[in-house]
Amino acid sequence: MVIMAVSSSSSTFQPVLDRIAAEIENMPARGRPADYIPALAACDPRRFGMAVAELDGTVYGVGDWRQPLSTQSLTKVFTLALVLAGGGDALWERVGREPSGNPFNSLVQLEYENGIPRNPFINAGALVVTDRLHTQTGDAAGTLLDFLRAESGNAQLASNKDVAASEAAHGDRNAALGHFMASYGNIGNPVPTLLDQYFRQCSIEASCADLALATGFLARHGIRADGTRLLTSSQAKQVNAVMLTCGTYDAAGEFAYRVGLPGKSGVGGGIIAVVPGHCTLCVWSPGLDERGNSVAGVAALERFTTLTGLSVF
Ligand code: GLU
Repeated sequence: MVIMAVSSSSSTFQPVLDRIAAEIENMPARGRPADYIPALAACDPRRFGMAVAELDGTVYGVGDWRQPLSTQSLTKVFTLALVLAGGGDALWERVGREPSGNPFNSLVQLEYENGIPRNPFINAGALVVTDRLHTQTGDAAGTLLDFLRAESGNAQLASNKDVAASEAAHGDRNAALGHFMASYGNIGNPVPTLLDQYFRQCSIEASCADLALATGFLARHGIRADGTRLLTSSQAKQVNAVMLTCGTYDAAGEFAYRVGLPGKSGVGGGIIAVVPGHCTLCVWSPGLDERGNSVAGVAALERFTTLTGLSVF
């Protein structure tokens, strides 16, 4: 196939998205939805949506781009940003920022490393971040929801109570991580409180359009949709860097190779990605590969950066 370079000016995003959606339509294998959270297992792996948001909030989309999806681990980017905004570098005494090379819910590394998770995007690290946010605000999930509503302009965003209950009912692994880290003194809140907050966080539903808009502060070097500053430009750079190195489970190297952007995936099949200084993306397709990344989602982002030339490399 001949790959045409497409100009990256905003007026060309819609044709690029339309072309990608047509290509994805012909993809034979789409992976399988996550089934360890029963409420997610019923999703049709052929669903596909993609949105691009420019820095000024103009959004382009294709397919199921207005359909709410289960955000799951995408939320870990926003909780990290909120904790860094509220408490600065103190967080990094409690969580590292190296790729783990292990599955996202692994316990083994935690014992060798004295209860300090490798990075904020594996489940153990995300629990530490949510614990910090809960201590800072008294309501981690509510603070996150307020932030997502404000940045997306969608006041209807909410947690899905069925998904949260499903996660809680099958949350033994996350409970084990929480209690294990508490035994090292790395969790400040009661573990049941923390788990409740974490499951409410993961079960927030938002569309590709909402999520592309909500990620905008990372492309605007820390500036929120209303023009106020959430992060310093250094902090925004740091969050983007951790996304690039740790954001797509233990396939971050492959994602960087194929897509070339900071990105974060979730087991709901969503992926958010940032082109610093230019735009943000969210793609959704619930079929996952064996590492937990959306098969069609990664393919679509790879085509986007190839067609537009918009990548960090
Ligand atoms: N709520 C999910 C869990 O903790 C999130 C996992 C993910 O999206 O990576 O297992």
